Amino acid sequence: MSDPAPVQHFIRSIIEADLASGKHAAIATRFPPEPNGYLHIGHAKSICLNFGLALDYQGTCNLRFDDTNPEKETEEYANAIQEDVRWLGFEWNGEVRWASDYFQALYDYAEELIGKGLAYVDDLTPEAMREYRGTLTQPGRASPCRSRTPAENLDLFQRMKAGEFPDGSRTLRARIDMASPNINMRDPVIYRIKRAHHIRTGDAWCIYPMYDYTHCISDALERITHSLCTLEFEDHRPLYDWVLEHLSVPAHPRQIEFSRLELHTTVTSKRKLNQLVMQRHVTAWDDPRLPTLHGMRRRGYTPAGIREFARRIGISKSDNVIDMAVLEGCIREDLEAKAPRVMAVINPLKVVLSNYQEGVTASRSAGFHPNHPEFGEREVPISREIWIEQDDFLETPPAGWQRLTPGGEVRLRYSYVIKCEEVVKDAAGNVVELRCSIDHETLGKNPVGRKVKGVIHWVSAAHALAIEVRLYDRLFLDAEPDSHKDRDFLEFLNPDSLKVVNGWAEACVAQAEPETRYQFERLGYFCADRFDYKPGERLAFNRTVTLKDSWSR
Ligand code: ATP
Ligand code: MG
Repeated sequence: MSDPAPVQHFIRSIIEADLASGKHAAIATRFPPEPNGYLHIGHAKSICLNFGLALDYQGTCNLRFDDTNPEKETEEYANAIQEDVRWLGFEWNGEVRWASDYFQALYDYAEELIGKGLAYVDDLTPEAMREYRGTLTQPGRASPCRSRTPAENLDLFQRMKAGEFPDGSRTLRARIDMASPNINMRDPVIYRIKRAHHIRTGDAWCIYPMYDYTHCISDALERITHSLCTLEFEDHRPLYDWVLEHLSVPAHPRQIEFSRLELHTTVTSKRKLNQLVMQRHVTAWDDPRLPTLHGMRRRGYTPAGIREFARRIGISKSDNVIDMAVLEGCIREDLEAKAPRVMAVINPLKVVLSNYQEGVTASRSAGFHPNHPEFGEREVPISREIWIEQDDFLETPPAGWQRLTPGGEVRLRYSYVIKCEEVVKDAAGNVVELRCSIDHETLGKNPVGRKVKGVIHWVSAAHALAIEVRLYDRLFLDAEPDSHKDRDFLEFLNPDSLKVVNGWAEACVAQAEPETRYQFERLGYFCADRFDYKPGERLAFNRTVTLKDSWSR
């Protein structure tokens, strides 16, 4: 990976100070996703941060699944997450870790807390517990079970584990402070009874540890030095520290929070993405309109482009709401240098070159990239019938129009200058064909005695390859669809987020492997679909991103 130099931020400063002072000889970070959905662009920010820091400071980064909610977690999600991390260009340290690897250790630590009088089994119903917890303005009240003795608690906790009590009937709670101004510290639940099949431990457990309790201990067991998470966990940090301070764990990692990424015109919440998929507003988790890593990959986004995006948006504690144009700009820049250029027509209008001999083909070779001769060349054939873009012709054009118009001239890219001699219309008055003449003296030469400024793309009808083209637009019409108090985010779905058209491309793209990316000249960047690919059948191309609008005259 040869990415540009990282941008300095407060977490890097903390790490540099810790390395300089000798507090740590090397850093250890982790990326801790819950396998309850596919990763999205927000996770990419966290992945680039955690794995990127490990690379920059020659430390390590673990991939650890936070698998403490068996009902919502699946193997499919866990596999997709690993695939995404690798696709983004990162490799985790050693084996994949699972919070469930630590279920026995977590249980033993819970007994340690009980023995120290720092945890108790509570019989309050969830409703009663909520009632007792108090509010932001009112302190909580002690549960009648709070005064149970360690021996009593140990016995009850062991029986919870043994399956003697029904789901939800009892919990284990940390005994901290029911009057704390921080509600997370009002004796949080650390274990619950739940008979659910777990993807890794099967039915071995009927009690499961809560996230806050699990996370800090997992970090400590892995000797993580800097535990980086998003700002909503700031109020949980006192609990993170409390648990580690009161247990005989091998390390006490430092939790540091940064702000979540939010992207305009989309949603970055697994729950909402899940809803879009389950309710079939999109085709699947890898629908190219979604900001999931699987979706962005299928659309043609590049790992380097996404990493550059993460670098540019930076890391801080202030709001990180970013316009989609920033992400698209990073993808475009990466593809600009890397994607071979070919011609394709996605809204075809037939042109007959009336003074070009029938059955004759000529061709000219053209490079795949103006700045990269090493990309090679291909022959661009011409014959009597060609396809051009419908909107490159206007009968009554505005001032300054440089494309085709009746009686006007234009250059065919890599080929001749043509002149529009006749416009053929159907009964309804639609333009269905143009008859043009070719200036035989203009192949690779300027026309004599006049200037022709406009250049349009085209393909030879006899040679072109039929392709399916998927044109994607914003998934939502509102910049922040999930920010409206009284309106559901689904109300802002863009009904025209996908348009499928049939077009024509130069024959050389027939060889495109799945995921090959091209610039279709003047149209944008397109990617051969990863999955809808059957050799011999019509290739499907997904529009990754349009070009900057510099051609639009
Ligand atoms: P979501 O809210 O989408 O469900 P999550 O935080 O519940 O996300 P996790 O699987 O727990 O999803 O996230 C794994 C890691 O990715 C966490 O450290 C989390 O802080 C980070 N993360 C999740 N969303 C974002 C985001 N939008 N920006 C930056 N980091 C994020
Ligand atoms: Mg989470």
